[in-house]
Amino acid sequence: CGIVGYIGHRQAYPVIIKGLTRLEYRGYDSAGLAIFDGEKINLCKTKGKVSDLEKKCDNTLKGTIGIGHTRWATHGVPNDVNSHPHYSNSGELVIIHNGIIENYDSLKQELISRGYTFHSDTDTEVLVNLIEEIQKTQELKLGKAVQVALNQVVGAYAIAVMDIKKPNEIIAARLGSPLAIGIGENEYFITSDASPFIEYTNNAIYLEDEEMAIIRLHKPLKIRKIKDDSLVTPDIQQLQL
Ligand code: GLU
Repeated sequence: CGIVGYIGHRQAYPVIIKGLTRLEYRGYDSAGLAIFDGEKINLCKTKGKVSDLEKKCDNTLKGTIGIGHTRWATHGVPNDVNSHPHYSNSGELVIIHNGIIENYDSLKQELISRGYTFHSDTDTEVLVNLIEEIQKTQELKLGKAVQVALNQVVGAYAIAVMDIKKPNEIIAARLGSPLAIGIGENEYFITSDASPFIEYTNNAIYLEDEEMAIIRLHKPLKIRKIKDDSLVTPDIQQLQL
């Protein structure tokens, strides 16, 4: 139900924990995060509160890129395994997701027939493996694979995806769930609303439905329409603090 992603020069863990706390008002039953240390994407998640997550996770989770989530369960009971983030089968991709993938069951059966296994009962784990399958079979870069996958999805989403092969990149997209991007000096925040990043920057972009953002460190933000791939000129707003 809440999303906080970070890519920049700060340690991602405290930024994400603090951001998830700010988003607690949205309601949730579980929380989790994934931090990329440059080699591995380390994951920590739990049923319960953000304070439980803090107790469970090792404060030594190091890295300046990461994604965090508070979950309001729609598919699969609230438990540790169903909490987000979710890995793809290879362990190379991780995803967080707000919303519902309505056609998850048919996509899941197709992926199972292609040899994929599932560890959770969530619709979200189907999406991350669909992205992986598309990336592998069509030899696409992460952003393109996410785009192709989202064009096969029926439902609502705000997502953020990381790829171990892309240590300086987060892909975000939305349809029906809010997603804001805070733009700082050599850093980006990807969040459900601006409250997690207003202490760092007042430059914000609100993604529109059916838009995706390719967010890369030290590069300008790129926004594309998911359906027709057209580039969108980012509309950067100055938030009044
Ligand atoms: N449908 C997803 C799940 O049940 C995401 C729920 C949410 O929006 O937090 O895991």
